Amino acid sequence: MNIRLFGLADDSIVDGPGLRFAVFTQGCYHNCEGCHNPNSHDVNGGYDEDTDVIIEKIKANPLLDGVTLSGGEPFLQAKPLTLIADAAKESGLNVMAYTGYTFEELIKGANEDNGWLELLGKLDLLVDGKFVLAERSIELNFKGSRNQRILNVPESLKVGKAVLSEIDK
Ligand code: SF4
Repeated sequence: MNIRLFGLADDSIVDGPGLRFAVFTQGCYHNCEGCHNPNSHDVNGGYDEDTDVIIEKIKANPLLDGVTLSGGEPFLQAKPLTLIADAAKESGLNVMAYTGYTFEELIKGANEDNGWLELLGKLDLLVDGKFVLAERSIELNFKGSRNQRILNVPESLKVGKAVLSEIDK
């Protein structure tokens, strides 16, 4: 399946716990002030890639701990990302995603067309919420501003409300 990418990082240690393969999608409408990656906003920017090619690359690296879906806004392309997340899980990898939406917004806005629930169902961790410049801190683990949360997604889906992961600090 086609996916629009900003880029890939095949051995990242800054996009979540352990050694990770990071997929940066192209396109974002959140317009957070101070965004770390403004070149990822234009939905017509970046380049096309096939999810099979990305899955091959993930499977080729036996040292990975997990896969991170970042952007841009990953939930604009939830369907191809669900394929990648599914293959990662099959390979025993954990899957983490970043989003400018809150968990509550994703649950409320989920529908058949956007595939948000299906992608959430494949995630272990979700860093949610827009980047807020006034709440920025460099002391935070894997998140840019204090309003963002690192959520335990299986637990959050189970109880129907956002549950913080133990790595949220
Ligand atoms: S959600 Fe992320 S990529 Fe989008 S504007 Fe905010 S910080 Fe930038």
